[in-house]
Amino acid sequence: MNPLSANEILALDRQHVWHPYASMVNPVPVFPVASAEGVRLRLTDGTELIDGMSSWWAAIHGYNHPFLNAAASRQLERMAHVMFGGLTHEPAVCLAHLLARLTPGNLDKVFFCDSGSVSVEVALKMALQYWVALGKPQKSTMLTIRGGYHGDTLGAMAVCDPVTGMHTLFSRNLTSHYFADRPACRFGQEWDPADITSLRRLMEENHGRLAAVILEPILQGAGGMWFYHPEYLRQVRALCESNEVLLIFDEIATGFGRTGKLFAAEHAGVTPDILCLGKALTGGYMTLAATVTTQRLSDTISQDGAGVFMHGPTFMANPLACAVALASIELLLASPWQSRIAEIQDQMSRELESCAVLPQVADVRVLGAVGVVELRRPVNMRVISRRFVERGVWIRPFGRLVYIMPPYIIQPEELNRLTMAIRETVVEVECLA
Ligand SMILES: *Cc1c(COP(=O)(O)O)cnc(C)c1O
Repeated sequence: MNPLSANEILALDRQHVWHPYASMVNPVPVFPVASAEGVRLRLTDGTELIDGMSSWWAAIHGYNHPFLNAAASRQLERMAHVMFGGLTHEPAVCLAHLLARLTPGNLDKVFFCDSGSVSVEVALKMALQYWVALGKPQKSTMLTIRGGYHGDTLGAMAVCDPVTGMHTLFSRNLTSHYFADRPACRFGQEWDPADITSLRRLMEENHGRLAAVILEPILQGAGGMWFYHPEYLRQVRALCESNEVLLIFDEIATGFGRTGKLFAAEHAGVTPDILCLGKALTGGYMTLAATVTTQRLSDTISQDGAGVFMHGPTFMANPLACAVALASIELLLASPWQSRIAEIQDQMSRELESCAVLPQVADVRVLGAVGVVELRRPVNMRVISRRFVERGVWIRPFGRLVYIMPPYIIQPEELNRLTMAIRETVVEVECLA
């Protein structure tokens, strides 16, 4: 087959292909990518874009990395996939062993699944089965905080922010859970004890019905890109202990260094009962997620009735994905990732600061390798993504949020191109609306 021209790709795309959160009738522009290397995406017309998104938090080492390519090729020659029912393999056991070692505290039982949303479903089901096993099936409701995002499947949707979670359409079909106020104390500022009041009240009133608290520690991602105080998590941990409620951390976006710690939970020194991982797990190569829990939970679930955990995806622990995940974590740990992320954080803070005084801008915040410029009004996606492409960068805002989370290997002059493009584009925003 001859390679298609850009126009042929776009015509077929338009005719057949659904994009994330997209209309088939009135689509926003899409740009055909031919290849990617390091921090650059190359479009079919030869345009090179500096990547500010890491393909949604995932491509932490950049694209087309020789070490990850080699790990994939090596595994491909052995087997791309085998079922995980009744079989096991080296990539899965080594990855589970490594995750058990790296994740906080006593989290050491690993359930592999296909995507972040599924790992959240698995976490919720683990919590439900745990209470059934202990003879308290009425503990079947979740408590979460507003501003959260946990995925697009029905179970995960039900714990997303009911307003910003993009799911109000389905509210009739969603299990109803409890929502506490979003923590207001910013990361790096003073703690206000009043911040925990809303969650504490819901916990104390409803603990007999609560299976678990689920939240994104420190950094709320797609639900609002908000960074909050670590003390909040310590208080939640204590409340979960005293009210007999499990704690689930969704680190699908924050895992593997993004906030400056390997896992965001480390900012607070808190260990959850269940941890969800995804996105950067394979360095952005393919889809893989994991739900990690403690022996206490796995023993309890395994000793009851059926004696099994009721979940098992077809592509569970895909060997190719596990092999690349192992290589990606090895690459990360062998790199000076802490200092790289600290440098990215410093540079973004310096360079995005100038946006804060613009009349269009409500807030600027930076944590680890994540920089956010929050506008006063939603952006016009149709116009703004083209403006960024014209400026040679790949940045995809949503709503009122223009944000970047570049690959950790980005060089200062490349990062400067991203922050300059944000400033130049935000200045124009009022005229684009
Ligand atoms: C992306 C994301 C998910 C969902 O992961 P998918 O792989 O898109 O299903 C869940 N939780 C958080 C915090 C995420 O950022």
